[in-house]
Amino acid sequence: MSDGRPAAEQRHDLRGDCASCFGLCCVALPFSASADFAVDKAAGSPCHNLRADFRCGIHDRLRQEGFPGCTVYDCFGAGQKVSQVTFGGRDWRQDRETASVMFAVFPVMRQLHELLFYLTEILARTEARPVHDEARRALDETEALTRRDPAALAELDVAARRQAVNPLLLRASELVRAPHRARSRRGADLIGARLRKADLRGADLRGAYLIGADLAGADLRDADLIGADLRGADLAGADLTGSVFLTQPQVDSAKGDGATRLPPSLTRPGHWPAARAAAPGERTSGKAGPRKPAAKGGRQKKGASKGTWRTPGR
Ligand code: SF4
Repeated sequence: MSDGRPAAEQRHDLRGDCASCFGLCCVALPFSASADFAVDKAAGSPCHNLRADFRCGIHDRLRQEGFPGCTVYDCFGAGQKVSQVTFGGRDWRQDRETASVMFAVFPVMRQLHELLFYLTEILARTEARPVHDEARRALDETEALTRRDPAALAELDVAARRQAVNPLLLRASELVRAPHRARSRRGADLIGARLRKADLRGADLRGAYLIGADLAGADLRDADLIGADLRGADLAGADLTGSVFLTQPQVDSAKGDGATRLPPSLTRPGHWPAARAAAPGERTSGKAGPRKPAAKGGRQKKGASKGTWRTPGR
């Protein structure tokens, strides 16, 4: 994985490519009837909206049909890895004997790929240069785990792997945040908190509960947001450029607008209103944006309840 390419380029491989996946998130993962999903679905059972070609039959109207949870899920590229590499292109419909193993492997792979995403971020941060060698080793070791055979992957202790890498993520975060000397809010209960226009530069918000928080206009540059729960948080006009370990599913689950500033590796959700034109250098993702390779009749992503990073401080 640390193959000499720029980290930003390597990160491109860590996005879901629905066109190369056998709809694994729509089959392997369970969800419950709620505000996020219109119906109950058991793990290993195909969603009734999944078509024969592994595309979503309601892709263009997921929110209107009661499946907003599907629009805020990303597999970090685990779906295509399991489909095309681990199982060599054999889909679960053709080969039912291996289907249960495939469905067990998918959430493991998703967590490994999320870890790869964080490690590539370390390599993209010049402030974290003192730990770049260690990050490259961790990246190679983690990538090697993703190449294991199906049985080994299904049995993999992915929690142990995360625990092993977590100190490195912490050190990288400290290096980025050091100039700000911000106080720690790790794992803090900030549900519904009024943080409008707050100066949160360099804040340690690992695993913080920011559900429904008012972060409009807040300055979150260089803040560590790994595992922070941003569901329904108001990020209108907030500045998240340079934030550490922020993921696309976190962004997708929040409420922002055209004035929200995001790290360049992330895209503006298509369901956010456009308050203003994007700033120079920012990317925007409409319905046919670059992170939706299967946009035409394809599947967007599902539920934030699976595979979320958990920090020791939470
Ligand atoms: S994206 Fe959601 S609604 Fe569509 S097939 Fe997948 S799980 Fe079902």
